[in-house]
Amino acid sequence: MMFQAFLIKYGEIGLKGKNRYMFEDALMRQIRFSLKDVEGTFHVHKAQARIFVECEGYYDYDETVEALKRVFGIVGICPVVHVEDKGFDELKKEVVEYMDKMYPDKNTTFKVEARRGKKSYPKTSMEINCDLGEAILEAFPEIRVDVHKPQIMLNIEVRDLIYIYSEIIPGPGGMPVGTNGKAMLLLSGGIDSPVAGYMISKRGVELEATYFHAPPYTSERAKQKVIDLAKLVSKYAGPIKVNVVNFTDIQLYIYEKCPHEELTIIMRRYMMRIAEHFAKESGCLGLITGESIGQVASQTMQSLAATNDVCTLPVYRPVIGFDKQEIIEISQKINTFETSILPFEDCCTIFVAKHPVTKPNINIIRRSEENLAEKIDELMAEAINSVETILVKP
Ligand code: ATP
Ligand code: MG
Repeated sequence: MMFQAFLIKYGEIGLKGKNRYMFEDALMRQIRFSLKDVEGTFHVHKAQARIFVECEGYYDYDETVEALKRVFGIVGICPVVHVEDKGFDELKKEVVEYMDKMYPDKNTTFKVEARRGKKSYPKTSMEINCDLGEAILEAFPEIRVDVHKPQIMLNIEVRDLIYIYSEIIPGPGGMPVGTNGKAMLLLSGGIDSPVAGYMISKRGVELEATYFHAPPYTSERAKQKVIDLAKLVSKYAGPIKVNVVNFTDIQLYIYEKCPHEELTIIMRRYMMRIAEHFAKESGCLGLITGESIGQVASQTMQSLAATNDVCTLPVYRPVIGFDKQEIIEISQKINTFETSILPFEDCCTIFVAKHPVTKPNINIIRRSEENLAEKIDELMAEAINSVETILVKP
């Protein structure tokens, strides 16, 4: 079956009034962006509160659907056949042919649902429903009508052209990226943070990312892995600017000056401070991490409180209540899992203590950080000034 267009269904919640246009325009922009590298020529346009992707000539159907399935804001993708209006008898023939090609097995039930976008059309919606239904019943003796729970809902939309569609491929839901501001993802090479970024981006939030590495303790390949993960997330979230921060000197200095069982917590506090610096610099409205309560020592309620203590921006932790297995399932769905489990060293794992504190006391942690007074400002400034930024695109 050669579909010439896709009708895009999107959620209506919260889209009343002025926001609707913003939402639709952002959705069209994201659709265009997602189809940029797909083989084919596409025209994305809006008509009577519907978004259509018109495909000109040959295009790669599977790739097109895959690309659309990654556009947040889309709840359904309907492949459409459209025909010119050459009179009702011709339409009957076209519709019967459509049903024959789409559903080789006629032992099924259907219902015709017509909508008249063009009010000058000589038949009412009801008449179209009845007359096309009749034509289908005549053509295929096995098929039955079921107006309550049809297996096939055959939609006919009369516009300048007549649109025929009956299949709805589920989209990812969510809101189009760019409709809800921007946030800074603390992106590591693990399983959790790419999933966290995906989840917040699904709500329409544009992403920027910060990654801390510790050369020579962490390798160039560990960094490449994080860039690869950002690339996979960007298939959904759009381009992501990744700030790669050299964290080695800060880590060594903490190691030298602070109690070893507090290293992880203090390190995490400096990560948050630096990420927040970049976040504010580029207009992000929040930070995102892949933390989940109790997963490791640095993610107990006390540890999270100690990490949160240094942030003034809200910290979004979308996987906070998820079990590891639930996070893994999302990472498999979005295709980051295989990359996340590649065995490269992480800067957090290099200086970990044998027995890290699991219930850090914020006051004690603050006092330990006073040991860093002499050089930490200078080291922070150095880390910030030597940042490497990489723009990652899908
Ligand atoms: P992940 O699977 O996301 O790496 P994790 O289970 O390994 O998480 P931690 O190492 O405690 O947990 O990190 C918690 C969160 O802190 C991560 O989800 C991430 O948001 C952030 N984070 C940790 N290490 C780094 C890093 N090297 N660079 C940037 N962010 C980091
Ligand atoms: Mg990690």
